[in-house]
Amino acid sequence: MKLIQSENQIASSLKNCQVLIVGAGLSGAVLAERAASAGLRVVVLEQRAHVAGNCHDHRDEHGVMVHAYGPHIFHSNRSHVVEYLSGFTDWTPYTHRVLADIDGQKVPVPFNLTSLRACFAPDQAEAMEQELLERYAWDQAVPITDLMDSDSARLQLLGDFIFTKVFRHYTLKQWGIAADQLSPEVLKRVPVVLSHDDRYFRDRFQQMPAQGYTAMVENLLSHPNIQVALGQEASRWIALDETQGEILVRQRPFNGQLVYTGPLDALFGCRLGALKYRSLQFHFEHRPDFPFQATGTVNYPNHESMTRITEFRHLTGQADVSGTTIVREYPQDYDPDDPGRNIPYYPLMNPESRTLYERYRVLAQRFEQLIVCGRLGDFRYYNMDDAVSRSLELAESLAWAPSDVEAVS
Ligand code: FAD
Ligand code: UDP
Repeated sequence: MKLIQSENQIASSLKNCQVLIVGAGLSGAVLAERAASAGLRVVVLEQRAHVAGNCHDHRDEHGVMVHAYGPHIFHSNRSHVVEYLSGFTDWTPYTHRVLADIDGQKVPVPFNLTSLRACFAPDQAEAMEQELLERYAWDQAVPITDLMDSDSARLQLLGDFIFTKVFRHYTLKQWGIAADQLSPEVLKRVPVVLSHDDRYFRDRFQQMPAQGYTAMVENLLSHPNIQVALGQEASRWIALDETQGEILVRQRPFNGQLVYTGPLDALFGCRLGALKYRSLQFHFEHRPDFPFQATGTVNYPNHESMTRITEFRHLTGQADVSGTTIVREYPQDYDPDDPGRNIPYYPLMNPESRTLYERYRVLAQRFEQLIVCGRLGDFRYYNMDDAVSRSLELAESLAWAPSDVEAVS
């Protein structure tokens, strides 16, 4: 990966570049790679001191591979995404399993038939299971709201139980608002599963990049046409002239394309109002003995402030260390002016946010050279494979395919 550091170097690279990318997360890295492979000169500006965005991983001071911005498990049903990323990483098998602490016992989440047996008396569990399987297919994934809205009193009772024990408080902590104020998409991510399948994700492909996400993103960014500048907040170099619909780089009109993967409201100085995000606090702890817990993640839906604990060695399969590192997650409000809570981890998916976002989208559309994408740019609850898929689609629509563009000499 070609890093550029000095002000002069960055200024001169910006002068010559054809594609300028803000953000070295997965979305930006995939577009950088596609543009570079199409023969274009690319500069990536990243405000952090490292690449890979929120899936950045590194070894901590004890040698344990950890995910700095929360646990990341790769899963996908999109073979084109897996095939593409496989050009930049090897994979190591991992199936994520999650237990939830419910009334002191640990039961599988998504709530499944094993969880049902653990939480109800045998007769009641039997009757519930029978009724579920009369109405739904074996192994079907049913949204929790379908059970809560059921015309069967027994299934309603089950739905209400799961909602109360697993979703209600967790969701309040995670989002700062009640579940019914959120887009239904959010809760649908964790359905009720009508079998004993205890995998957290049901995608066909579930593996982790063998050398980690940072190594994979570095490989994406290692094309000779790409230059990466770390520690560079984009607004130091880029401005938008809204009256002319023109992008300015170093105060001069820019002729290339600008890919922006940061928060869209920030690009416009939040002038229509601030979009809502949720932030997180991570408490890492190193312990002498592995394992600390039975599965990669244990959720604590009814803990006062914490949502979950993840133990990284389960995820990575790392065997060359003796100790273990865990991380506890504490959701919190996002505040761009407070360094302890200024990372916009999650776009807050509710109708007001979406409406405001659409207004920013209209502003962005005035700039022909501007391409907005990524979890923050698109304001969507993207998994990693969604982000990669979106970038690949964009690259295709921009004809950033190697055969279409003349190579840079
Ligand atoms: P980001 O990773 O956010 O990258 C954007 C980059 O742009 C950042 O590096 C940022 O510093 C930079 N940037 C922003 N603004 C500017 C600016 N003005 N100037 C310069 N640089 C800027 N997905 C999964 O598939 N599986 C998981 O298990 C999973 N777990 C997750 C857990 C957590 C806690 C979170 C928050 C997300 C999780 N995700 C998971 C989602 C995953 O992180 C995203 O899908 C993916 O990282 C999106 O990549 P991105 O490039 O769009 O955004
Ligand atoms: N959720 C919950 N209880 C759980 C797990 C998830 O209430 O034990 C809800 C919560 O609202 C969460 C959403 O389901 O934000 C999506 O969960 P997921 O595990 O996909 O969240 P992520 O890993 O993206 O934070």
